Amino acid sequence: MLPKEVMVKAKEEFLNWQGMGRSVMEISHRSKEYIAMAESAEQDLRELLAVPDNYKVLFAHGGGRGQFSAVPMNLQKRGDSADFLLTGSWSKSAIAEANKYLKTNVVADVTIQDGLSTVPPITAAQISPNSAYFHYCANETVDGIEINHIPQSGDVPIVVDMSSNILSKPIDVSKFGAIYAGAQKNIGPSGLSVVIVRDDLLDFAMPETPTFMHYKTMAKHGSMYNTPPTYSWYLAGLVFKWLKSQGGVESIAQQNSEKATLLYECIDQSGFYVNNVHPDFRSKMNITFQLPNTELDASFLAGSERAGLAALQGHRNVGGMRASIYNAMPIEGVLALTQFMRDFARRHK
Ligand SMILES: *Cc1c(COP(=O)(O)O)cnc(C)c1O
Repeated sequence: MLPKEVMVKAKEEFLNWQGMGRSVMEISHRSKEYIAMAESAEQDLRELLAVPDNYKVLFAHGGGRGQFSAVPMNLQKRGDSADFLLTGSWSKSAIAEANKYLKTNVVADVTIQDGLSTVPPITAAQISPNSAYFHYCANETVDGIEINHIPQSGDVPIVVDMSSNILSKPIDVSKFGAIYAGAQKNIGPSGLSVVIVRDDLLDFAMPETPTFMHYKTMAKHGSMYNTPPTYSWYLAGLVFKWLKSQGGVESIAQQNSEKATLLYECIDQSGFYVNNVHPDFRSKMNITFQLPNTELDASFLAGSERAGLAALQGHRNVGGMRASIYNAMPIEGVLALTQFMRDFARRHK
């Protein structure tokens, strides 16, 4: 979901942006109006996440997977390999892509303890000092696993994929070498990715890095080396303003906790639904659960669809159900889902 207020504003401005008689999609990205909007979006994002001055904020093409390639290419010359935490399907894909450009080491894997998925702690001793970077995925969207602590990596910069939980809570940007996120979960429409990268990491790109993905070139051109995804950037800017009007990420984090708690309590108290992620690593964005037997799945999905509850089918690789409750999902949506789940459980117990 995108916030309703943002969609209404975009609709109002669709044909006539800032009184120009044209859509924001139809004007030059080099016009002073567009540049002012783009800079204000960057400024709002910097404020929301308290991004320190020694970090560049880039608005890039190519979504999350674009960064699966851009990160290893841009950091390749910093070391002879890269270290990874493997926690689910997105970190697995990131490793496979990075492996095209440098040697990859998996330092730890998710483990199952008493039937619950658990992420082992990472200490600097596990990270190779010659590693170009250490990468992990802060929220495994498919598996419903979220890592709230920041792993220890010594002097090796941490690169994190925050595609599905960026802006859901405050983070200490200074602990990271780079943060990236595809836009389409908490930022805006697809096609855009946001990269927050520390200044001292801009000089390690392999020479073959495509120019439009080269962090230093992008930074030098204010993310306008080539035409940026202008409409996505504009909508992201509206979402940042909406977040500020909500009281920023502290306040959205509180709402996200309330929403997730409602759903996990519904699951845990049901004696019917099961979530098998250790409580410390349960995602607040993507809540996964299974029904007592898979034969009930189709009936659950059809019934929930009729009740106006969309997109609850789990990812095809893991099955079961998944409720994605990103920032823009109002608590009413979660309450409607828990009500449906209780009714369904009562009828099928
Ligand atoms: C959605 C997602 C991606 C991939 O995003 P694309 O824009 O489709 O490439 C990568 N990582 C995570 C954690 C995601 O949730």
